[in-house]
Amino acid sequence: MIYLVEDEASIRELVIYTLQNTGFEAKGFADGKDFWLAVREKAPDLVLLDIMLPGEDGLGILKKLRSSASTAKLPVMMLTAKGTEYDKVLGLDSGADDYLPKPFGMMELVARVKSLLRRAGPAACDAEEYRRGKLFVSVPRHVVTVNGAEIVLTRKEFDLLAFLLKNAGLVMTRDRILSAVWEYDFEGETRTVDTHVLTLRGKLGDCGKLIQTVRGFGYKVGESK
Ligand code: CA
Repeated sequence: MIYLVEDEASIRELVIYTLQNTGFEAKGFADGKDFWLAVREKAPDLVLLDIMLPGEDGLGILKKLRSSASTAKLPVMMLTAKGTEYDKVLGLDSGADDYLPKPFGMMELVARVKSLLRRAGPAACDAEEYRRGKLFVSVPRHVVTVNGAEIVLTRKEFDLLAFLLKNAGLVMTRDRILSAVWEYDFEGETRTVDTHVLTLRGKLGDCGKLIQTVRGFGYKVGESK
């Protein structure tokens, strides 16, 4: 989960939209107040911080994150306007992990987010990484590779794959998949699951066959040997 604090609605919406479309879970907040409420509820894996904000500014938020044991090591990327603000942040040695000057392109943002999550890496990742032949999936880093090449999945495709891997060896019914991945119980909507399995298999190429159809029941991924 990525949190973004940005008061400019158009940037906030674009960034959240882009992140969600590249397979991340992301939430945007217009100010520090809402952000802190969310952090208390659930700590994110990465934070994107605008600097000039109404109320508490981005540097203030960063300082607080760093001073609390539970968030001290959280990867943080500052989104800064070019010029004096940017220089100030760099000069301050504020403890941010990365800086992205505005205006930035969405593809660059995604690339930086991925690399930051990768660097933040292993500590949090051990528990939720899976290998099956040529397939590698890291849930916290949100990375799927086949034979070393990264595969771009939508969020639901990613969640679906992660869910099957987490329950490897067990047959998951369509209903169970729907309620876990789509978070709703909807009789008759199980076709959604089939459609996603189909596109997911396609994207995984050779590794698509790892997702087995269990006729009359649902789907499963075999246990690792
Ligand atoms: Ca701002």
